[in-house]
Amino acid sequence: MSQPKEEDRDSEDAAPLPHFRNLRISGDEQKRKSDVLPGKTAVLSCGHQMPLDYLISWCKYYLKQEKTEFTCPRFDEYKKGICGTKFSYQDMCHTVPLTPSLKEFFEERLGELTAARFCEFKACPGCQSYVERADQKNLCVHCTVCTARMGCSYEFCWKCRRKWKGAAQNNVHCGYNDCRQTETSQKKRDLIKLCQPAFKIQKLQTEEIYSTKEKSNDRQRLAMIINNVEFRVKNLNRRGAEKDEESMKSLLEALGYGVIILNDLSAAGMEAALRDFSQHKEHRYSDSTFFIMMSHGGPDGIYGINFDDKEGDILPVDRIFHYLGSENCPGLTDKPKIILIQACRGDKEGHVWVCDGVRSNKGIKQHREKDFACFRSCTPDTVSIRNTGSGSLFIQSLVKIFSEHAHEDDIMELFRKVAHWFEKAAKEDEFPYQMPSLDRTTLVNKFYLFPGL
Ligand SMILES: [Zn+2]
Ligand SMILES: [Zn+2]
Ligand SMILES: [Zn+2]
Ligand SMILES: [Zn+2]
Repeated sequence: MSQPKEEDRDSEDAAPLPHFRNLRISGDEQKRKSDVLPGKTAVLSCGHQMPLDYLISWCKYYLKQEKTEFTCPRFDEYKKGICGTKFSYQDMCHTVPLTPSLKEFFEERLGELTAARFCEFKACPGCQSYVERADQKNLCVHCTVCTARMGCSYEFCWKCRRKWKGAAQNNVHCGYNDCRQTETSQKKRDLIKLCQPAFKIQKLQTEEIYSTKEKSNDRQRLAMIINNVEFRVKNLNRRGAEKDEESMKSLLEALGYGVIILNDLSAAGMEAALRDFSQHKEHRYSDSTFFIMMSHGGPDGIYGINFDDKEGDILPVDRIFHYLGSENCPGLTDKPKIILIQACRGDKEGHVWVCDGVRSNKGIKQHREKDFACFRSCTPDTVSIRNTGSGSLFIQSLVKIFSEHAHEDDIMELFRKVAHWFEKAAKEDEFPYQMPSLDRTTLVNKFYLFPGL
């Protein structure tokens, strides 16, 4: 991993209160980011309620997967499962107060998806006007609007929708390495070193390990990433966080997990999403889960997008254990539940913090809570560094180490290697002092991920 530029280093995933002393937070709705409507509840046609930011985030997650119809994500007490009632954007408009900018966003994206599905039309990256593809075998598409405007021939790639790069006579793939056309499943698998079957057999015979299910249609691993990027107070926006989201998604998919990704949630939205996540039937057919939380944070927990010094909007980390514990999430009993948190835990620098060695275990009954591993980006009270260009040190180093060593090490050893990387980086490479920390971990066996098996 390359060293972050000096000027990028001071981006911390904290918004400690002292930072706000000189900041006037405007109460004027007009000046706030119009997508964010704090504290509103949405009611769907099926009768289920949810924080509005959760609903919007959920629908955006569907759009990202190129789905034009949504389903209710709420847990239904009577059905004892996820509601799943289908609803359209039009249905949503009847019951949910959307801002003009949100309406515009949804309508534009839905129009694009519908056009792409039913006709050979796509928006030109140069002028955003819809261009028809005349030759279905040709990825290189000519835009007459841009050509007329620029006075020279303008083409774009049908697959990745970028200005055409490379030889114009090559119609099968454009000049970008990451064009979606060329991104095969092979490339994804290359991300992570795969495990040999003999290794798994040997571990099963010689060590106390968590049993993992073989890759099959019956195995349904599900993970969730909550990534708060845009906050109501704009100078809290977490630039570079999208890099962490991409890396984490690729890693989890390579490990065989389906990944639900939600952006920009309030504390209430995070809690609702967490509760619904814990009730997915997939967990019953899974052998483990990952829950990843990326946001600002402080000593009291993880910050929602409405955070400011007046309103708080904080989700205590304890809620994660509450919802994923045996009582509320029987589907994950006896299965490793790995929690990764990228967020500050205070505003102190990593090299100032001194350990007093006292940790309270009060209130933890051993079997009410078991099989958790919670790995956090830093020690209590300290900051977590995020590079605004390449993402956070924690997530980026973790993904790199998992990719290289998950085929041979159990998860605690992987976490140790991440911590070792931080120690080495601070001492030898003049990285900021930051020490990832294992919290509230109750694994009773070794957990090997056995990538590829
Ligand atoms: Zn519902
Ligand atoms: Zn154009
Ligand atoms: Zn392309
Ligand atoms: Zn700070």
